[in-house]
Amino acid sequence: MGGIPTTSDGQVIADPYGTVYEDLYAAGECAWVSVHGANRLSTNSLVDLVVFGSRAGQHMERFVRDADFVPVPGDADDEIRSRIELILSGGGTHGENIRTEMESVMMEKVGIYRTESEMSSAVESISKLRERYAQVRTQDTRGEYNTDLLACKTLVKDVASGDGDTISVEPLGNLPVERDLMVRQSDFFEKYRSVKPFLISEQEFVEKERLQSPEQQAEFDNATKCILCAACYSACPVISEKNPSFLGPAAIVQTARFLDDNRDTGFEERLPSLDNKNGVWPCENHFQCTVVCPRGIKVTKLINLTKQKIKKYRKQRGEHIHDGSA
Ligand code: SF4
Repeated sequence: MGGIPTTSDGQVIADPYGTVYEDLYAAGECAWVSVHGANRLSTNSLVDLVVFGSRAGQHMERFVRDADFVPVPGDADDEIRSRIELILSGGGTHGENIRTEMESVMMEKVGIYRTESEMSSAVESISKLRERYAQVRTQDTRGEYNTDLLACKTLVKDVASGDGDTISVEPLGNLPVERDLMVRQSDFFEKYRSVKPFLISEQEFVEKERLQSPEQQAEFDNATKCILCAACYSACPVISEKNPSFLGPAAIVQTARFLDDNRDTGFEERLPSLDNKNGVWPCENHFQCTVVCPRGIKVTKLINLTKQKIKKYRKQRGEHIHDGSA
């Protein structure tokens, strides 16, 4: 789905005549293999990475075996070193500002529905951002543990400061370990799928879309931050100690994301997965899920709100309200 045309072995195509760069490869999201059906939304990640990424890797391996290496000049790293020094010299613009502005330009002007004038205006804005990009500097100017340059910002000294402190790196809990830190996630995703984590709507369209106010969107905004990391599921003491079949916090967060969406009408369709002895009811409010969530989602609160919605629904119909044991 990317913009770099390649052969089916990942070699970059240089021009419209099909000239191939023998030693330049592109694979994954940046590559455009141009095989019918391969570069389509939803399938591109799988096909580009698994099929053409694999082909590119195998081709590279063969190429590297036979290639003659050119001698590396002694000053090969000078250019990149001077660029890093410039970035670390302070002042200028923070990269985060450019990223945020670029994101908002793309969201507002290059969405699914686009007009020529909006796209022209986006091109102009992005060109200006490109000029400002040359002025990007880090606010943190340290050479070591530079928090602007590191993706991981937790320092070992902050979590193990005393003599004899140890840090354990373990696989996710509540999921069977395949090997080393790798776990089998099929249970986790089976539970996730059971709540139908997609918009179910019988609402009529207004013209071409279902409109929603910013206030209505804010109702479920917190739950949209979920990245399905399974940290909450891993930390849940109910799953580990009482009920391994418990639906789990992540699936309920996904449920809440849609139950709180004013366009969604799928409450009853999701009810069988939620209102049973393994659905929402086993949760005992240990709050571990909320504590570990890296996205700051109010997981326990969303579970409780989901329980309340189910109780209200049953009460309005004069139906039995589960207490978790039935
Ligand atoms: S810990 Fe937070 S982000 Fe991760 S799956 Fe649970 S709710 Fe989602």
